[in-house]
Amino acid sequence: NASRLLGKTVIVTGASSGIGAATAVLFAKGGSNVILIARRADALKKVSDACAAAHKESGLRQGGKFAAVQLDVSDKAQVATLWDKVPQDLRNVDILVNNAGFVLGVEHVGDIKPEDVESMFSTNVFGLISMTQLLIKDFKAKKAGHVINLGSIAGLEPYAGGSIYTATKHAVRAFTGSMRRELVNTPIRVTEIQPGMVETEFSITRYRGDINAAGKVYEGLEPLTAADIAEEIVWAAARPPHVNIAEMLVFPVNQA
Ligand code: NDP
Repeated sequence: NASRLLGKTVIVTGASSGIGAATAVLFAKGGSNVILIARRADALKKVSDACAAAHKESGLRQGGKFAAVQLDVSDKAQVATLWDKVPQDLRNVDILVNNAGFVLGVEHVGDIKPEDVESMFSTNVFGLISMTQLLIKDFKAKKAGHVINLGSIAGLEPYAGGSIYTATKHAVRAFTGSMRRELVNTPIRVTEIQPGMVETEFSITRYRGDINAAGKVYEGLEPLTAADIAEEIVWAAARPPHVNIAEMLVFPVNQA
């Protein structure tokens, strides 16, 4: 029931494009307040404006507060000072969507640059952990909260050319599963969403800006859209408080 999200405050990391942007807009449409986090301020502003438009169109009175926060989740100092950048009336957060993440390159192990290894782990794993640690203190204090982490099919099945990315997503799965077990018998919920192929800027980053190579990934397939995954995230968040969607693996129909 979407009414459970009315007036809630949600943080979405990686909200400047793709799944994060679609998720922010869908929460906005459902009457939630949203703190949007990413590194590109201009793109973030556009999504924040889209949130405001979606909320206005919904006609709902609840929600409608949005903050675009330029922040690199891989930078621990920036994460530690997040609240300085968030307006006072948005600091009581109900849901954290840890969505920021990427894959850089398709090289084999011997060819991967150390800086690429570091950047993938810094965002996909350490950034997700820093954000979670920041919020979990508040969630424990107020005895409520929901952490929703973006894993991937790559967190279940390794693939050739994806050693580092799949390692980061296996780490996300291990971290999320352990945390969920730690929080059993508390009102804090923990969910991992594991998408298959979704058409976003993800592929462009993977091929380091080569649009042609990025587009070829989806040839002959009908990939999921960012909105498809946003719907699953918002649906999981809107379950009754005693229901915890632990994991959700979502594929396009033509992905094996
Ligand atoms: P996009 O590239 O469209 O979005 C990634 C988002 O993460 C961008 O908003 C980017 O914004 C943000 N981001 C990256 N690094 C940081 C950082 N250090 N700090 C803050 N924000 C950051 O890809 P998707 O929407 O597809 O990906 C979202 C999530 O879904 C990722 O975790 C990805 O691994 C996962 N996923 C995607 C799949 C797919 O096929 N697309 C499949 C399975 C999982 P900015 O550059 O402005 O910081």
